[in-house]
Amino acid sequence: QPSGSSKPPKPSFSKQDLEYYEESDFSWSKEVQAKLCSVFQLSNFRPLQRAAINLSMSGKDLFLVMPTGRGKSLCYQLPALCSKGFTLVIAPLVSLMEDQLMYLKSVDVPAVTLNASSTKEDSKHVLAGMIDKNSPFKLLYVTPEKIAKSKLLMSKLDKAYNMGLLTRIAVDEVHCCSQWGHDFRPDYKLLGILKRQFPKVPLVGLTATATSNVLKDCQKILCVQEPITLTAPFNRPNLYYEVRFKDNEDCTDQIAQMIRERYKNQSGIVYVFSQKDAAAVATDLQKKNILAQPYHANMEPSDKSLVHQRWSSKKIQVVVATVAFGMGIDKADVRFVIHHTISKSIENYYQESGRAGRDDGSADCIVFFGFADIFRISTMVVMENTGQQKLQNMVAYCQNVDRCRRAMMAIHFDEVWNDDECNQMCDVCRHGNDYITMDITKHARDVVTIVEMASSMDEKLTPLKVCDAWLGKGPAKHRKTIKVTSLSRLEVESVIIHLLLHGYFSEDFSFTPYTTHFYLKLGRKAALLKNGNHSITMKMRRRVMSPATDETQEQVETALIDVSNVAIQRHNKTKIHKNHQNMEKRLA
Ligand code: ADP
Ligand code: MG
Repeated sequence: QPSGSSKPPKPSFSKQDLEYYEESDFSWSKEVQAKLCSVFQLSNFRPLQRAAINLSMSGKDLFLVMPTGRGKSLCYQLPALCSKGFTLVIAPLVSLMEDQLMYLKSVDVPAVTLNASSTKEDSKHVLAGMIDKNSPFKLLYVTPEKIAKSKLLMSKLDKAYNMGLLTRIAVDEVHCCSQWGHDFRPDYKLLGILKRQFPKVPLVGLTATATSNVLKDCQKILCVQEPITLTAPFNRPNLYYEVRFKDNEDCTDQIAQMIRERYKNQSGIVYVFSQKDAAAVATDLQKKNILAQPYHANMEPSDKSLVHQRWSSKKIQVVVATVAFGMGIDKADVRFVIHHTISKSIENYYQESGRAGRDDGSADCIVFFGFADIFRISTMVVMENTGQQKLQNMVAYCQNVDRCRRAMMAIHFDEVWNDDECNQMCDVCRHGNDYITMDITKHARDVVTIVEMASSMDEKLTPLKVCDAWLGKGPAKHRKTIKVTSLSRLEVESVIIHLLLHGYFSEDFSFTPYTTHFYLKLGRKAALLKNGNHSITMKMRRRVMSPATDETQEQVETALIDVSNVAIQRHNKTKIHKNHQNMEKRLA
C-alpha cells in the first residue's frame, strides 16, 4: 500500500491479509488478467483494484474507498464478467448509469438498465433476462428508487437469487446511505432489504469520500455483517491547493485572466453558488473571449449533455457550473477547478476539486473565499442537521494560514497527515509562515459592543451591516455611538469570521416566507470578554490581497502595522521576497 499516510487496515483485516489478496494465484486470476487486457484494454491494475476484485470474487462483503477517477467501477465490472449470472448495480443517477452503459457497450460488455425512463419493451426484456440461465447481460444498473418501489423487480431478483443467477451486488456512491455523508438520498436508506433478502450474495459498496463513521452507518443501513474496508490514501499529490481572498468586484476578472494566461488552451471547471451565478459568470467570461458555458440542474437534460459533450471534446474550455455538474464526469485532463464560491463542506470541496488532474498530471484547485458567501451558504444549509458545523470547517479551511491544506482535509478522512508529504503543493506549505499573529482582544470588544448595542435597541444586524457599522459606514444613528475601527475591510471580515468560528458570535436565523436571513448574535463565549484578562489572538495572512505585487505588498504591510494597540509578531520577514519569486514562477 502506498505511503505511510493512510491508517493501517483494521486488525481484523491485517496487512498480511491484504498481501494475500494482492496475489494473482487464485483460481480466477488468469481469467481476470486476460479480460483486463482483452476486454477493458488495460495493462495493469491500479493500487487496491486487484485486492478488491479478489475479495469480491472470494465472496466477501467489501467497502471500497478510493478517490474519484481511480477506477472503482472496474472492481465490480471485471468480477461480473468472470462470474456466471449477473451483478446488480445500484447507482444514484440515471445520467451516471447511461455513461457507464455507453462505455460498457463500447467494450462489448452486455449491460442493461432499469429506471424511470425505461420503455415497457425494455423493461420486459430486462426482467426476462434476469431469470434466463444464459444470462444475456452481466450487469444490471438500477436506481435505488426502483428497488424501493418496484415489486416486480424485487420478485424477479428473488427468483434470480433462487436460481443462483444474482451473483453480486454493487452499491455505487454508497455514502448516499448515510445522513452523515455529503450526499444523502432517502431511497438509499431502504437498500438494507437486499442483504436481508439475499444474504448469500456478496455486496461491494463504493465511494470516494466516507469517514469511518459514515461507513459504520452505511454498514448498519445496508445490513452487512462484517464488511472488509479497503481505503486508498485520500491524498492527491498532483493537485495544488490554494485559497484566495475574494473581492467581489474583480473575482471574475482574476478568474478570466488566469484562464487566458496560466490555463491557455486547457480545460477546467468554475464552480459557482447558484444557477443565476452560473449564467452570469459564464456570460462575463464569454465577454472576455473565453469559451465558457453554464451548467446547472434547471437546464434541459439535452442542453446539459450538450455542454458536457462540448467540454469533453474541447470545443469549449470551461464549464461554469453549480454542484449539479459532478457525478459521472470523468474527463481526465482537467487542469483547473476554480471555486468562485466556497463549497458547503470540506467533503464537498474535496470531491469537487478532485475532478482536476485525474490523468495524474499537475492541476490547480483554487477557491475564492468571500465574506458574504459564507452567509449565503449558511442560510442555504439551515435545514441540514450538521450543515453549520460542516460549513464552519470549510470556512476554517479557508481562514487557515499556518497549516498544510492537506492536513486540514486529512482530519475529515480520519488520516494522520505528515505535512512534508505535501511537497509544497499547497499555498501554505509553499509560502511558509507568511502571516502575523495579532492580539485582537480590543477589536473583539469593540465589535461585540456593536452587536450588543444593536440588540439593546431591538435591532438585528447582518454580518455585512456589522462590518459597515464598524468601518463607520453604517447609518448615522449608529455612527455616533460606535468606535470606528482602523482595520481594513478585509481585516474586519477576518476578525468577524474568527469570532464566529470561535463562539464569540453565533448565527441567528430568521425566516420569512421567501427567504432566510442570517443575523449575528452574541455567542456563548462573548461574556468572557467582560473579563479584563481574557485575550484573543488570531493569525492573519500578510498577503491579504493576492496575487500581490511588491508595491501592494508594502501597502498591505504598512496598513497592518499602523493599526494602533495591536501587538504584531512578525514571522520570517525574509521569506516574503522569496514568496514573490515563487508566485511569479507560478504565474508564468
Ligand atoms: P471512479 O468510479 O473511481 O471515480 P471510474 O471507475 O469511473 O472511477 O474510472 C475512471 C477512469 O479510470 C476510467 O476511464 C477507467 O477506464 C480508468 N481506469 C480504471 N482502472 C484503470 C487501470 N487499471 N489503468 C488505467 N486506467 C484505469
Ligand atoms: Mg464511480
